[in-house]
Amino acid sequence: MRYSEFYYICGMKTLEKVSEMISFRSSDFFLNKKVGFVPTMGALHQGHLALVKEAKRNSDICVVSIFVNPRQFNNPSDFKLYPKHPDRDIELLKTNGCDVLFLPESDDIYSNYDGYDVDLEGIDNVLEGKYRPGHFKGVIDVVYRLFDIVRPHKSFFGQKDYQQLVIIKKMTDIAMPDIEIVECPTVREKSGLAMSSRNQRLTEEQKESASQIYKIINEYELHQIVNKETDEIANQIKSRIDKIEDLKTEYVAFCEQNTLKPVIILRKNMSVVLCVAVFCGQVRLIDNKILHF
Ligand code: AMP
Repeated sequence: MRYSEFYYICGMKTLEKVSEMISFRSSDFFLNKKVGFVPTMGALHQGHLALVKEAKRNSDICVVSIFVNPRQFNNPSDFKLYPKHPDRDIELLKTNGCDVLFLPESDDIYSNYDGYDVDLEGIDNVLEGKYRPGHFKGVIDVVYRLFDIVRPHKSFFGQKDYQQLVIIKKMTDIAMPDIEIVECPTVREKSGLAMSSRNQRLTEEQKESASQIYKIINEYELHQIVNKETDEIANQIKSRIDKIEDLKTEYVAFCEQNTLKPVIILRKNMSVVLCVAVFCGQVRLIDNKILHF
């Protein structure tokens, strides 16, 4: 049985075909309604559900998509091992305010659609862009396509993927300026570990190690690091993280909050984002902290 046949009677409309979503979006159901949209790759956790609740609070109709986008994985094994729990996700969405769930297939999303090209003026080449070539091209391709199908008034993104948020804001400013991008804070485990679908691939011991990442970046008080060179602080953070069992830092970087340009010296009145990418065993984790000096 298709999800769409079963779950309609349970109060949340579930659609799997692009053509069905497009025609449903033009139906009376959406007439004069404000649409809030949350794109996800599923394996949902409280971080995703916080976006869904925020979308519901700020819109008449909350649409969520679950699509593990092959184009944004630069590492085939990461794609293959990406967790998938569609039945559990559907139950969670039904009880957390989702009105419409869109569950498309890859062939359908990318049929008659090559992708969307936009000049992001280099913000896609730093940080994640540098270490995951092609990743943001894949993100832009899918988000542009989903926005075109769902036509939301607002779309909700997490600060957890900070560079993605900045890039999506830039893409919509250029290509779809009527869509408002709403930024939502990172939801964390009690231990401080940023929630992530990839955490499911960690052992309990690895989760304990991974929780040290945020504890370390959170320890640096603004008054201690103002007027300091970022290289010095970044190296300290890197060596502290690398001493922990199973952790290996890929980068630690201080960037201007809106442009993601590198910051050399931390000065008063600056807004800076401290971004880290760390391998915990085979699992690559990212986190960040926004610093207003
Ligand atoms: P993903 O399913 O990983 O593609 O994430 C879908 C959306 O959820 C993105 O906007 C992410 O930034 C957001 N998200 C993922 N983890 C968290 C978190 N721990 N807190 C807040 N938002 C998150």
